[in-house]
Amino acid sequence: MDTHGKGLAPASILVSAGRQPRVAGAGLNAPLELSSTFVADGPVGYAREGNPTWTAFEEALGALEGGAALVFSSGMAAIAAALSLAPEGAVIVAPTHAYSGTGALLQSLEQAGRARPRTVDISDTAAVLAALEGADVLWAESPTNPMLEVADLPRIFEAAHAAGAITLCDNTFATPLVQQPLRLGADVVVHSVTKYLAGHSDVILGATVTAGTERGRGLQDALARYRLLHGAIAGPMETWLAVRGMRTLHLRVERSSANAAVLAGRLADHPAVQRLRYPGFGSILAIEVRGGPQGAETVAGQVRLWTHATSLGGVESLIERRRRHPAEPHTVPDNLLRLSVGVEDVEDLWRDLEAALAQVAR
Ligand code: PLP
Repeated sequence: MDTHGKGLAPASILVSAGRQPRVAGAGLNAPLELSSTFVADGPVGYAREGNPTWTAFEEALGALEGGAALVFSSGMAAIAAALSLAPEGAVIVAPTHAYSGTGALLQSLEQAGRARPRTVDISDTAAVLAALEGADVLWAESPTNPMLEVADLPRIFEAAHAAGAITLCDNTFATPLVQQPLRLGADVVVHSVTKYLAGHSDVILGATVTAGTERGRGLQDALARYRLLHGAIAGPMETWLAVRGMRTLHLRVERSSANAAVLAGRLADHPAVQRLRYPGFGSILAIEVRGGPQGAETVAGQVRLWTHATSLGGVESLIERRRRHPAEPHTVPDNLLRLSVGVEDVEDLWRDLEAALAQVAR
């Protein structure tokens, strides 16, 4: 684990971590290393084991989350790696509304007889504590995608450890600027780096970060071995772009969160909105629109500055009816639109959204 970030605020870590050593003539930025192999007897022999561009990213994310990071080829690759830590046949407690890809992966593990998932409302602490009896793994996601439920992470991690379970947490929505799950008791954090960390909707990438505890170090070794043997490795170009994107994470999150707070205030009273989901922080909102799924599709189809597209966490504002995806749980309302608020001018965003909502408010 890099010790770079110790004592620095997140903004300073984001700007300064993962740089080149300060020697005369060195480039300021991490190199984009495109070699598959390296001259023998150096720190890395073959690029499936390591890469200087990965190291730069891993130093920066590790310092930010307070642990040791590994970059993976996608968020799903990081999730699959983290779930590989569960013993065969493990009882895995997970949110009913975890990201749909996570839910689908848990289902496929169950169908193959390799895991026994127990799904719970992650915001219902008593229900989570009850489900933890005899559990091997707690999978947390907070806020959840797209229902934006918030978990009491310190409480449920503590209870999971008391039950003998390992604690895994998808921190994609919150970002390490809002919450650092390792400091709240998680053993492993996962990220879809594709979203806020990279931030420009131009890469697919993932990461794990493990705690500096004895258990965390054991899990880190297992994850590094998984990545090496399964070859779920990140492209250096994508990783380099993620490092560059992360340099401004704090500025993007600050602006998009401020925009989201303004929009949430206005959407709460809008006649076309039946229900607003906004956890009070971050830049993802969900609205249930009048007129059912058709009303929601109309809004998504009418916007001009917002883009009707899946994904989230980029500089640009995106809107999507989540139940378009067959894998989305049916407990997600079919008129729910997920809004990923970007860094545009908030009045322009509001005018565009208001005009689209007017199509269903009549
Ligand atoms: N976790 C969350 C919360 C997500 O929203 C997503 C993708 O939408 C993922 C993980 C999967 O990440 P990726 O698309 O980078 O594989």
